[in-house]
Amino acid sequence: MLKIYNSLTRKVEEFTPLNSDEVKMYTCGPTVYDYASIGNFRTYTVADVLYRTLRFNGYKVKYVMNLTDVGHLTGDNQGDADTGEDRMEKGAKREGKTAWQIADFYSKAFLSDFKKLNLSQPTLFARATDHIKEQVELIKNLESKGLTYRIDDGIYFDIKKFEEATGKKYGQLSDLDEIKEGARVSKNLQKKDPRDFALWKLSNNPGERHMEWESPWGIGFPGWHLECSAMSMKYLGESFDIHAGGEDLKQIHHPNEIAQSEGATGKLFVKYWLHVRFLLVEGKKMSKSLGNFYTVSDVEKKKINPIALRYLYLNAHYQDPLNFTWEALESAQNTLSNLYSIAREIKNENESERKTLSEEKMQKIDSFRQDFISSINDNLNAPKALAVLWAVVKSNIPSSDKLDLMYLFDEVLGLKIAEISSAGAEIPQKILSLNAQRDEFRKKGDYLNADKLRKEIELKGYKIIDTREGSRILKA
Ligand code: AMP
Ligand code: ZN
Repeated sequence: MLKIYNSLTRKVEEFTPLNSDEVKMYTCGPTVYDYASIGNFRTYTVADVLYRTLRFNGYKVKYVMNLTDVGHLTGDNQGDADTGEDRMEKGAKREGKTAWQIADFYSKAFLSDFKKLNLSQPTLFARATDHIKEQVELIKNLESKGLTYRIDDGIYFDIKKFEEATGKKYGQLSDLDEIKEGARVSKNLQKKDPRDFALWKLSNNPGERHMEWESPWGIGFPGWHLECSAMSMKYLGESFDIHAGGEDLKQIHHPNEIAQSEGATGKLFVKYWLHVRFLLVEGKKMSKSLGNFYTVSDVEKKKINPIALRYLYLNAHYQDPLNFTWEALESAQNTLSNLYSIAREIKNENESERKTLSEEKMQKIDSFRQDFISSINDNLNAPKALAVLWAVVKSNIPSSDKLDLMYLFDEVLGLKIAEISSAGAEIPQKILSLNAQRDEFRKKGDYLNADKLRKEIELKGYKIIDTREGSRILKA
């Protein structure tokens, strides 16, 4: 039975889907005005592990992630998110391009990094600019219920009216009293309540922005929070199961999503809210000004496999702090390489033991499987699940059972164990053992003998490629 921590109730809860046929899940995706950071990818990796865990438990899952390509202003996520410059337009100025070109370029870069981390393809990636109509409809709905008002720079959501109309308290997810109590001081003095937020921002000088649309209220663009409500409800229904994101979003963005959606439908918006603790870099918040803002490309530039980053994320519980250092990533890379070479060795082992499987070993295999499932189902305890994987690797169960379990666990962990350990599958056993001997010589620093074996392998028509994950053999 799967249990997850629900930020809404502040408790670990048993997961029961709203509709037993299919689980519906949404993750707040990136604002595509720049490369995504390794911090963003901690959140997406945890969301991916949750998605994989749901499937591992036999659920069919509809999974939607958005790409924010308009409306996210530079007033930060925990402060006044309706103020400042539009991030997309800012990116456009920085690079001398249009906001549309920026969105296109960084969406592609994001999707490419996404694949490198072996993140499962969601059922749908939804772009904010493809859903302007749905966002306008949502504002019209809120307007018809008297939950909006107009000021100079746009149409705003009225929190007090929402609370009166629904009997619900705004900001249940938030840890900040100023959000719950409305004690925050707003930069926009026309707002009735500092907690109110923009649904539609009006263009100052229509024609000046790259991204703007006609609307019943004038030319402008949607407020950042609106897209997630409009798109998640369009694809997943007015009430759905799981909504995930980084911990910052639980203060303002997610409370605003709840207010808009529940204000419009009168129904519960989302049953389980999952928030991922921020990744720190050398103990500090990641930021461009501190020079500690790293991307997946920076990882690759250091000749580190991005899957090592995935391993590093999995090695900490998602609610615990995770401090990124290059040393920690290199150590994850070594551990991962070790795992791959063990998997390759196991794969090439002779299987005479298979027929004589004792009762005790069968029980062991079964208890490994149970331990893995109960770890990952225990609020996604990935570090514990990894420990079970290593216990399997080090155990004395038959090789083929080891491999079966490793592949099975990897359906959740996503470390590409099968793919990488199969890389030399078509190479004859004799060549693989010669290469294994050569690796041994190399480990001991005996390069003379290692070179002799290299020549022998090459004479037989194969070539060797030495990588950080060990050597690989290809047909010459
Ligand atoms: P943004 O592009 O800033 O809107 O962030 C996209 C997603 O990444 C959101 O779910 C954020 O909460 C999350 N996020 C941003 N920075 C970090 C970080 N340092 N660690 C973990 N998640 C992050
Ligand atoms: Zn969102």
